[in-house]
Amino acid sequence: MDDYLDRLKKGTLKLYALETSLPPEQAVAVRRAFIEEETGTPLPRLGAFSIDIERVVKRNCENMIGAVQVPVGVAGPLAVRGEYADGAYWLPLATTEGALIASVNRGCRAVTAAGGAEVRIFRDGMTRAPVFATRSAAHAHETVRWVEAHIDRLRHAAESTTSHGKLLDIVAFVAGTSVFVRIEFDTKDAMGMNMVTIASEKVAGVIEAATGAHLVALSGNLCTDKKPAAVNGILGRGKTMVAGVFLGDDLIADVLKTTAAALAEVNYRKNLVGSARAGSLGFNAHAANVIAAMFIACGQDPAHVVEGSSTMTTVDPVEGGCYVAVTIPALQVGTVGGGTGIDCQRECLSLLGVAGGGDPPGSNARAFAEIVASGVLAGELSLLGALAAGHLARAHKSLGRG
Ligand code: NAP
Repeated sequence: MDDYLDRLKKGTLKLYALETSLPPEQAVAVRRAFIEEETGTPLPRLGAFSIDIERVVKRNCENMIGAVQVPVGVAGPLAVRGEYADGAYWLPLATTEGALIASVNRGCRAVTAAGGAEVRIFRDGMTRAPVFATRSAAHAHETVRWVEAHIDRLRHAAESTTSHGKLLDIVAFVAGTSVFVRIEFDTKDAMGMNMVTIASEKVAGVIEAATGAHLVALSGNLCTDKKPAAVNGILGRGKTMVAGVFLGDDLIADVLKTTAAALAEVNYRKNLVGSARAGSLGFNAHAANVIAAMFIACGQDPAHVVEGSSTMTTVDPVEGGCYVAVTIPALQVGTVGGGTGIDCQRECLSLLGVAGGGDPPGSNARAFAEIVASGVLAGELSLLGALAAGHLARAHKSLGRG
């Protein structure tokens, strides 16, 4: 240990190179000790973890010094009636936000008592959009025309990079002399960012060679990855889904202590009018809460909570109750790759019966997405219900008094 610490201090050994001469556990311990000494900060808790880090240091985390533990609780059972997930599930939620799980749990009770969340995936494609520089408007136009006329050739190039991915679509956008080619891929059980990026590089090379357009960046931000963007809401990114449930008047009164009319009014004035007035891209109460907690528990890329937050919640008043639904235009999830193989995260995916590759490929990620969407529905319902009940209580106070 001392020898390595000396070399790190002298600069003859780089901090990131420890794994080249030490087994992962020792490399991480030396690096942590070095940081403790450099900063004068003891880090014993950060150094106490149970996950196997052999693959983690190679695939998930450079310069590793330890692991943060996030408490995980469960909400459920939640009845899900999807095309890929059909049954009752206990949702693992990693959070430090007190009351969140209790709230989702109440929503699960309402959804399950109502017969379960009806979930459907409307579109399923991960995107990457390389940006090309062209010489002029005419050259940009020629480039777009060439791309549109050669989809099969581009498909062949893209699919040569993967045994699982399938090209779904290519849509070009233009801004002045910049041409953006938004490539959409079915990435099966992988969330797919790496897969589609590798495929896009191949596609971009073919376009460059054929058109003379110059590839400036493999990601031109029209993908759009990890930024709030209307394009994802309109065209979708990852899985575009709707989860809904009909709630009868009696159930709304029993479980949520409110009425269908109050739920519809809170949703209209808060989630729709309030969000529109705020210029928000998200028309929901707290979809990001459930998505973040499930993503962290299940080894998803938490930066994709940004896209998930553009969920729209709707409440349709119907005879005898209301139909509550969440529309999630861009949910990026995977059950292979990324952080899904880390021991704790994999256990959480196993809890839902969706760890690893599905049979057929893609079915596990789709089942997982349906469960997450149902969890979002439960979370929305519970918060709307709480607000509606509070709203009613206030209304009773002020209106019921002579
Ligand atoms: P990945 O970790 O690259 O693994 C996906 C690979 O798993 C695929 O290439 C596929 O191999 C293989 N695979 C095995 N069984 C599969 C199945 N049933 N379905 C689909 N693939 C299967 O995963 P990824 O989802 O493409 O990328 C996720 C990672 O990308 C995350 O760590 C994320 O943080 C990171 N990320 C990358 C970028 C970027 O621009 N590169 C951006 C954001 C995030 P074949 O391809 O050979 O079929």
